[in-house]
Amino acid sequence: MKIILASNNKNKLSELKQILSPLGYEIVSQSEAGINIEVEENGKTFEENSFIKAKAIYDITKSAVIADDSGLEVDYLNKAPGVYSHRYAGENATDKDRCEKILSELNDVPNENRTARFVCVICYIDENGKETLLRGECEGFIGKEMRGNNGFGYDPIFMIGDKSFAEISSEEKNKISHRANALKKLTCVLKGEKI
Ligand code: IMP
Repeated sequence: MKIILASNNKNKLSELKQILSPLGYEIVSQSEAGINIEVEENGKTFEENSFIKAKAIYDITKSAVIADDSGLEVDYLNKAPGVYSHRYAGENATDKDRCEKILSELNDVPNENRTARFVCVICYIDENGKETLLRGECEGFIGKEMRGNNGFGYDPIFMIGDKSFAEISSEEKNKISHRANALKKLTCVLKGEKI
């Protein structure tokens, strides 16, 4: 069965293909499916945004669709940047600018108050229009400096134990990440298993 990914992000596409192809699903990107729309992500939650993206594509194609929305929640910042993770620090800011903004906002904050989590919400709409929302989380804390060269986004400041997400390999990250946890739930749903 074909499932459209509501994104053209190559990393997301290959991760999804790796996990779902063995189950007999053919995953195609939005552009491979011939859809050329820009959806405005104006939701206030990860659930709303992933639903907005999936529904926009489903309404056009009536095919099964997967969309996801993800970001970082820092407890000391009342769960900011949250759904604004990509836009935090302004339109033209870099990943480094965003990491540095969070580090400065947490300047002098002790370790016990630096707790944070990555969140990923997947919205799956099947070919009959049935919607399922699946949330994956990964708990950690914000380090005192940027560390490591792997990954992207907030990985250099997101610590699990004594290592940042940018200091571990993508294979290790893909076992424990928020996205991996949401994808595990999606796999169960597609297999017809309970989550
Ligand atoms: P999106 O859901 O792909 O639009 O991601 C939103 C933003 O959240 C990204 O631009 C990153 O800043 C941040 N983010 C999401 N997942 C990760 C991750 O695994 N590592 C680091 N940053 C992430």
